[in-house]
Amino acid sequence: MTARAGFEALDPCVHCGFCLQACPTYLATGDEADSPRGRIVLMRALERRELGADDPALLQHLDACLGCRGCEPVCPSGVGYGRGLEAARALLVERRGLPAAARAVLGVFRHRWLWRPIFRGARWLRALGVPSRLASGSRFGFGMGMLAAIEPRGPERALGRRAAAAAGTGSRADPTRKDGTLAERSLPARPRVALFRGCVMDELFGHVHAATIRTLRANGYDVVEVRGQACCGALHQHAGDRAGAEALARRNLRAFAGSADFVAVNSAGCGALLKEYGHLLGSKEAGTLAAKVRDVSELLAAAGPRPGAPLPIDVAYDAPCHLQHAQRVQEPPLAVLRAIPELRLRMLPGSDRCCGSAGIYSTLHPGMARAVLDEKIGSCREAAPAPAVVATGNPGCLMQIGAGLRAAKLPIEARHPVELLDWSYRAAGLYD
Ligand code: SF4
Ligand code: SF4
Repeated sequence: MTARAGFEALDPCVHCGFCLQACPTYLATGDEADSPRGRIVLMRALERRELGADDPALLQHLDACLGCRGCEPVCPSGVGYGRGLEAARALLVERRGLPAAARAVLGVFRHRWLWRPIFRGARWLRALGVPSRLASGSRFGFGMGMLAAIEPRGPERALGRRAAAAAGTGSRADPTRKDGTLAERSLPARPRVALFRGCVMDELFGHVHAATIRTLRANGYDVVEVRGQACCGALHQHAGDRAGAEALARRNLRAFAGSADFVAVNSAGCGALLKEYGHLLGSKEAGTLAAKVRDVSELLAAAGPRPGAPLPIDVAYDAPCHLQHAQRVQEPPLAVLRAIPELRLRMLPGSDRCCGSAGIYSTLHPGMARAVLDEKIGSCREAAPAPAVVATGNPGCLMQIGAGLRAAKLPIEARHPVELLDWSYRAAGLYD
């Protein structure tokens, strides 16, 4: 890392404005200071001390940035907006400390013994069916909707019960068939894969972890468990708490050292930071670990993936920002969904735009987060034919979009792509 700690990534900006129409907050407010170009001007002024770290306009407009990095792929000059934003937020924290609300939330995610009881309480509520009953468009109801949206489910609701029964019993693929030609050519024999469990994923998305393990094993991977893992630190890094992010990264580095050929991640936000550990910690060991990190869709796509049984449903894919923009992983999730016979796949219009979740952003800035989400829900409502499922590979997006769909009373589910592949494999009899 240079002495400018990331600000140099903003240097190529020539103020052309090509990025403005890709920025959800600019589209929501129409204010230049809520655009990437406007924020770059503010960040440069912060670095040069032309604006103080307590300047209210600077804080307002940088705080309102989702960190979605939707502005990066459209920039002809190659501006590293995300790296510059992290540098600016780290400098703000250095000069004025973390705001109390962010400190409280981030403090919880530093320690398993703090977040585990909170998520267990949430799971308990979910098991009682409380969130489903209280989900609505109000702020409290929206939080309940986030929990209700991620209940573990089979394909019955998406398929309709009769079609689900047909998919489960009528047209089974041959479980002994192995369409793994590519896997055998391009991968070592049964590569060892360590599953990154994370915090939210481990507590609220255990069903997605289970689907990840089953689908990877069905595609020739040897999945191993790694003890002593911590939260990835992405929430801390995005909020400017670099010390917090580095402490968590060091714990994961110790846990995963020499554990496997690959580290599989099924949360786009976690994967984006894990792939940056070399840069974050600046050590050879961190770079070695980062080079092993793969989104689960990358591993499945590299192995085929083998087809399952037909699932005749309409699915719209919505790409998580930290998968498409930060990791530049675009095709593999589509390859996962295309492995499901009869599934009618298309991109959700505007899938290159953020849904407004953005880590703890939706908690700290609910108004802007909902304004950005409204665009996404509008795309779901207007999609023709109407999808039964919106597929997206990130926990924040699943909760945000899922709650938005419930609040809008749309009969559409938000599901992780590996859940759909898992439904298809179960129906094919690949496993119970
Ligand atoms: S960030 Fe890129 S696209 Fe946006 S104004 Fe600067 S140079 Fe142009
Ligand atoms: S990261 Fe997202 S919200 Fe922030 S300036 Fe770029 S496009 Fe806009």
